Amino acid sequence: MNRSAPQCESPRLFRATVVNPLGPEDCRVHVDGGVRVRAGRIEAVGPIERVAQGLEAETLDGVIVPGFFDVHIHWVQHQVRGAFHADLLTWLTQHIWPAEMAYADPTRARSDAQTFFADLLRAGTVGGMAYSSVHPEALGAAFACARGRWRIGNAVMTEGAPAALIGAKPMALSVIADLAARYGAERFVVTPRFALNCSPDVLAGLGALARAGGYWIQTHLAESPAELAAVARRFPEALDYTDVYDRAGLLGPRTVLGHCIHLGAREWDCLAARGCGIAHCPSSNEALGSGRMDLAAVRARGIRYALASDVGAGPSVSLLHVMQCFLVQHRAAGERVSAIEALYRATLAGAELLGWSAESGNLAPGKRADFVLLPKLGGAFDAEGWLEHVMAGTPAELERRPLATWLGGSATG
Ligand SMILES: [Zn+2]
Repeated sequence: MNRSAPQCESPRLFRATVVNPLGPEDCRVHVDGGVRVRAGRIEAVGPIERVAQGLEAETLDGVIVPGFFDVHIHWVQHQVRGAFHADLLTWLTQHIWPAEMAYADPTRARSDAQTFFADLLRAGTVGGMAYSSVHPEALGAAFACARGRWRIGNAVMTEGAPAALIGAKPMALSVIADLAARYGAERFVVTPRFALNCSPDVLAGLGALARAGGYWIQTHLAESPAELAAVARRFPEALDYTDVYDRAGLLGPRTVLGHCIHLGAREWDCLAARGCGIAHCPSSNEALGSGRMDLAAVRARGIRYALASDVGAGPSVSLLHVMQCFLVQHRAAGERVSAIEALYRATLAGAELLGWSAESGNLAPGKRADFVLLPKLGGAFDAEGWLEHVMAGTPAELERRPLATWLGGSATG
């Protein structure tokens, strides 16, 4: 394969088996398939004889799938991913917040951001939504180094954390508004870290900022029982944890909530009524012993959700590993989940959640040519069986399982 061919107006044709997710239980397979690319976009996808149009194909030994989307990842925790295990609040205060203090240093931030995005492409991830540390400089480094399609926000923390993160004078809302205006709604995401790090006034201010500017919002919701108890003490006026965010105007169709494990029926109904999306983080939830998201409750209400690594609580940036954990956890609880659904949740569902599915998430004419080559494994091709094989392995193995990743039709790495 020619990995260094410059992107140009003349089309390129990639020949391989193609597995293309279309929905939770629907994917199209072309065993001898082709993807025709021009100017960074997909021009055609299908059986090789239908898309070739006389072009000479670059034959790839493997299976092409769309690039992965990770809708909840802390890029400033990449260096310590999987390193610590404790319940959420201990893990944050003892390990993660001290680690994030290092990102006050712009040189360190830039170096780690380059490593982060290179590692994600190596693992097949082409976009998503990420948390930065509190520091505006670190956010700038992330945007400068980002490869693929990303929304990123600096975690807003104005209380309940060490002074080294909050500062002697907590970051004013005007600073967040300036950052939002500088990077724009396509890239900047309003990011209250979680309820315990923001006062009701700050939460309401962030909600108003997001509504006024059409910004996406990301935060954490109901990850651990100890967190729930602390939220109830800090916000006695709220009906429950979800109500803390709802009162602040933070819940809507552009809100992506991480975890959503310990929720009552009223809260599930509220999330459905507001049209929120969920970042489902099974590998992280397993690592911190946080519990299992109630998939039946999500499905019963038709709440949108996509998979996410939640690195660094999640031990790996590999969405293949997250897909594996998704199947293991829910099958152990008696839920029906398929490998084909896992692939959808790690690709197209993520793009849908972030409002990008018209241009990203799967392989279709007009969409960005962002895709991944995975090893074929096994004999006769059956998508469900192949997916089960290709997502088997340790986190370290799965981070290196993709054979190549393309962005806009150009090979990366
Ligand atoms: Zn998180």
